[in-house]
Amino acid sequence: MSKDQSVPKDGQDGQDEQYMEIALELAREAFQRGEVPVGAVLVRGEEILARSYNRREALQDATAHAEILALREAGARLGSWRLLGTTLYVTLEPCPMCAGALVQARVSRLVFGARDPKGGAAGTLYNIPGDPRLNHRLVVREGVLQEKCAALLREFFQARRRAGGGADTADTAHT
Ligand code: ZN
Repeated sequence: MSKDQSVPKDGQDGQDEQYMEIALELAREAFQRGEVPVGAVLVRGEEILARSYNRREALQDATAHAEILALREAGARLGSWRLLGTTLYVTLEPCPMCAGALVQARVSRLVFGARDPKGGAAGTLYNIPGDPRLNHRLVVREGVLQEKCAALLREFFQARRRAGGGADTADTAHT
């Protein structure tokens, strides 16, 4: 196995927490724009390949989740859809679509903050990154800055309820 394709190890010296802080910043930016606050960062080695946040409302695109946008940005930047050796940091557990996309893109490692009881596909409702029937698996670490990630989502939905948001207010999954 070449160096480039080896699975990145668990972040040393709080590295996972540092990248998750960046993902949280991006989630806050989504919040300010009225989007469900989910942020993502894709990293290889020391290099950040993509920074993104959920833009479903801005783009009126059901697939414009933070993870998908990060994969697109990194693929365009590298000129390759194969993202072996990368780690995706995301504030909320990926949905089935995004977990499937991470497998498709051959991302090596997934680090997420809060679990998503209504849509999580990295261990909660499904375990797509760890399914041995698929041709690629990811190493998963969960719970990094979990409380901060979950608090931001709670705050968003509370604010939306106060503002008298419609029937969608119970939609705690970003999906
Ligand atoms: Zn998703």
